[in-house]
Amino acid sequence: MRIKRLLSIALLQVAVTGAAGADSAWPGGIARIDLGVAEGAAPAVTFNDTRVLVMNDNGHWWAVVGVPLDAAVGKASITLADGASHDFAIHEHAYREQRLTVSKSYVSLSKEDLARVGRERKIIDAALNNWREVPLDDVSLAVPVDGPRSSSFGLRRFFNDEPRAPHKGMDIAVATGTPIQAPRAGMVTATGDFYFNGNTVIVDHGQGLVTMYCHLSEISVTNGQHIATGERLGAVGATGRVTGPHLHFGTYLNGTAVDPALLLAAPSQ
Ligand code: ZN
Repeated sequence: MRIKRLLSIALLQVAVTGAAGADSAWPGGIARIDLGVAEGAAPAVTFNDTRVLVMNDNGHWWAVVGVPLDAAVGKASITLADGASHDFAIHEHAYREQRLTVSKSYVSLSKEDLARVGRERKIIDAALNNWREVPLDDVSLAVPVDGPRSSSFGLRRFFNDEPRAPHKGMDIAVATGTPIQAPRAGMVTATGDFYFNGNTVIVDHGQGLVTMYCHLSEISVTNGQHIATGERLGAVGATGRVTGPHLHFGTYLNGTAVDPALLLAAPSQ
């Protein structure tokens, strides 16, 4: 009962701060900054020298900024092409800790595997940082697969007691073979069988809004392919570094991993 009550309070808060005003400006969250009445072309905006998504929401330009998980709490700012800057505040946000025991081959990599991971990192980083001009008036995503969503984004992880990068996605635990659907229209910018991520698809939805799907049993799209909302991207699997079948769903803004829960519609009851 208590959980239910807390949940309804949380939903109420979302409703109150909802729509364009929704702000989750914390590390791993999204800052939405009102740039004023939308006239002419969308302003070019940067954060940490990286282009930022700007959408026309109800007649105003809004900068939609991915806040890095390692960002310092406090004052931050975005810069417009004309040199003007807009300040915003990055708030504190607590993430939990997780300790996992995994096969040694995934912690102590051979020289060959390290080289492979390095090559793959370049392909993945290029796709996550791709910029494609697409006019946008929202950034919402449909659910790629229905299933129990972990709230594990941002978890500070330790593999065999060694600290690793925080978890940069949402895990949705469903059976191998479950179809994965594109959460909005876009273009496939990378596919491959990667050492850690297994079979992977990366989709560019425009202006640096990028989604990533890992550990697939099967990939149904090819690099460069344009896809519509709901189109099949592949199927859930257990390839790469996993402890069981699930979809690792990553969402990115300005090359920065943000919590997918902030872009997804609320789970159905
Ligand atoms: Zn994951």
